[in-house]
Amino acid sequence: MSEKAIGVAVLGLGNVGTEVVRIIEESAADLEARIGAPLELRGVGVRRVAKDRGVPVELLTDDIEALVSRDDVDIVVELMGPVEPARKAIMAALEQGKSVVTANKALMAQSTGELAQAAEKARVDLYFEAAVAGAIPVIRPLTQSLAGDTVLRVAGIVNGTTNYILSAMNDTGASYESALADASALGYAEADPTADVEGYDAAAKAAILASIAFHTRVTADDVYREGITKVSAEDFESAKALGCNIKLLAICERLTSGKGKQRVSARVYPALVPMDHPLATVNGAFNAVVVEAEAAGRLMFYGQGAGGAPTASAVMGDLVMAARNRVQGGRGPRESKYAKLPIAPIGAIPTRYYVNMNVKDRPGVLSAVAAEFSKHEVSIAEVRQEGMTDDEGELCGARIVVVTHRATDAALSKTVEALAELDVVQNINSVLRMEGATA
Ligand code: NAP
Repeated sequence: MSEKAIGVAVLGLGNVGTEVVRIIEESAADLEARIGAPLELRGVGVRRVAKDRGVPVELLTDDIEALVSRDDVDIVVELMGPVEPARKAIMAALEQGKSVVTANKALMAQSTGELAQAAEKARVDLYFEAAVAGAIPVIRPLTQSLAGDTVLRVAGIVNGTTNYILSAMNDTGASYESALADASALGYAEADPTADVEGYDAAAKAAILASIAFHTRVTADDVYREGITKVSAEDFESAKALGCNIKLLAICERLTSGKGKQRVSARVYPALVPMDHPLATVNGAFNAVVVEAEAAGRLMFYGQGAGGAPTASAVMGDLVMAARNRVQGGRGPRESKYAKLPIAPIGAIPTRYYVNMNVKDRPGVLSAVAAEFSKHEVSIAEVRQEGMTDDEGELCGARIVVVTHRATDAALSKTVEALAELDVVQNINSVLRMEGATA
């Protein structure tokens, strides 16, 4: 015989909440069999109760506080978004001994500590699989499947909007502005795309991934961040010539010094990725995360990183887990932050670079440019040069593309500053990192 019903409150009935409520209702019998008790929807929190949504009106409320506090609510599923009022509602739920499931990456990247502490104190679950990469299971594999391994690196395409824009630029040769306009028209970019194109969304996800992978509390403020707004059609041309694509990557890395001292790096930026790397061919709005662990080697997770139904799949996984724990007793894994590794500054991070510059068409230019790299101990791996013509077809300069071996960000920054001062350099067009290449 089934156990007492598990009462669920869903906060938010938008893209994700609508799908979660649908699955709870349509799959009730299967969910009951999997959990060992029926899931019963006690109420749904929204802003506008009067709006017709195909959900019985008696379930809707705009009084989030009262819904969360109901005695017959065991699990609160937060799908409202922004940080507030979500934080307040989740804290209230946890303090009253309710388990919480959320998809709120901005909140989890900012307030994990506070929320995890409240969950710990009340001895309840706080699950957030849907906060990173939508439907793709990546939080649970990192927290549970790899709990006995040592994660070395997590690198992913975790923002569908920017991947859609960059894929369009790569496929059609479009400018950033035109690809963004198309993405907005097709609903892939929001009216205000700042959080996506400036990398804030990816940085929040990088913070969550780094915290779990390295057992260290990492917040969005610890993540170095550059967006995609300066990536040009010309960068894609050069990337193709170098056998690469350009992707916005979220990278979380365990760095070990020669003396064995460990640090964590978490960073988000657009980077050239060689076409033989698994992330180079992840296109459109899809997400993918590559995890490298000491014993497991390389693992890749790929799928739909957003959208109502895919995200609801991850939310439902968490909801079933939290409900099972209620029925069977016990809890899922709690926050693990024992390692407390320091965060490495971006200047200390070694990667390869691509530098694209316009120079005067004069003998000796190449050696003057090469000398600046050498002076700052940045070793050159590859140089490409092509003549540039003016409107009359006259040769007016040259474009030089330099690809370096691994160098620190600090050394490269000094090199670029020095190059910009050279009389023969007309303009530094762009500087991008190259990730996933050997050497
Ligand atoms: P959404 O479509 O904008 O829906 C938000 C819902 O929350 C609406 O039903 C809204 O009520 C309700 N709401 C907002 N503020 C409220 C308040 N102060 N009081 C009561 N209700 C309030 O959002 P979504 O796309 O479903 O996203 C929900 C969460 O999932 C966010 O944290 C988001 O970051 C995360 N997420 C979304 C996706 C995705 O693909 N959409 C993917 C991964 C994670 P009204 O309907 O009355 O306005």
